[in-house]
Amino acid sequence: ATPTSIMVGTGRGAEMGVLFRKGEALQLLKDARVVALDKTGTLTEGRPVLTDLELAPGFDRTEVLAIVAAVESRSEHPIARAIVESATAGGIPLPTLADFESVTGMGVRATVDGIEVQVGADRYMRLLGMDVGVFADTAERLGSEGKSPLYAAIDGRLAAIIAVADPIKASTPAAIAALHRLGLKVAMITGDNQRTAQAIARRLGIDDVVAEVLPEGKVEAVRRLKAAHGRVAFIGDGINDAPALAEADVGMAIGTGTDVAVESADVVLMSGSLQGVPNAIALSKATIGNIK
Ligand code: ADP
Ligand code: MG
Repeated sequence: ATPTSIMVGTGRGAEMGVLFRKGEALQLLKDARVVALDKTGTLTEGRPVLTDLELAPGFDRTEVLAIVAAVESRSEHPIARAIVESATAGGIPLPTLADFESVTGMGVRATVDGIEVQVGADRYMRLLGMDVGVFADTAERLGSEGKSPLYAAIDGRLAAIIAVADPIKASTPAAIAALHRLGLKVAMITGDNQRTAQAIARRLGIDDVVAEVLPEGKVEAVRRLKAAHGRVAFIGDGINDAPALAEADVGMAIGTGTDVAVESADVVLMSGSLQGVPNAIALSKATIGNIK
């Protein structure tokens, strides 16, 4: 491609809200084989709401929600906002906490009124030596509904299973259909629960799912897709996506995502819409394909 064609292409991209931070990305995209996407905040709105809360025997709903929300009030994860909003909408006052800690890919913990509280994924509970088996049926149902199950442990005892649901962006189904029409394989890479990820992937017609991965696992997944299929574009919005954005042949960040993601990306989708992905690939084919 000539410098002029690159300039024209990046200009066209900007007009449709696709910002090429590196001209090279415009050249590489036309030969992408796989588009891999993060789930939360990329395929979905990233604004989950609390939908379910089931208690273990002996626990009180208001009390558990207050304690859990207090811990989550210090977290920046979208899940945290869902839980805090649910508590504050119910007018539940939050107790004070100390000693807050975020455990990457697992959940959060803190001390509330001198009591140890942990909130997070089932693997976090297992790490803590807690058996989540009592909630197995509930977890299975929630996952198959595309909801994300979480657990709360209070003073070393499993207290509740909580579910959050994150709506799929309105623009997502059409964007995936467009990628399929362009002949690409579409994959999802997420830290979320396996069953939840599968349910959402099925709903969207996504070909390949990698779930329950830590940020380093996202990098590994991108690397494997590259080895198996060829050129890979990865789309993400979170701090956790930054390493995978860098590993992909073309990293594309959601413009409304975190600064770290945007800075690690070759391309920025200025609006939250995923339509920018097939648009950028089509633009690359039109710009680079015609002018050699
Ligand atoms: P993702 O946002 O893609 O799911 P993360 O690595 O941020 O990936 O989180 C992985 C999992 O850890 C989440 O799906 C959730 O189960 C759990 N988790 C992370 N942060 C929190 C939090 N603040 N509260 C509860 N659970 C959390
Ligand atoms: Mg995300």
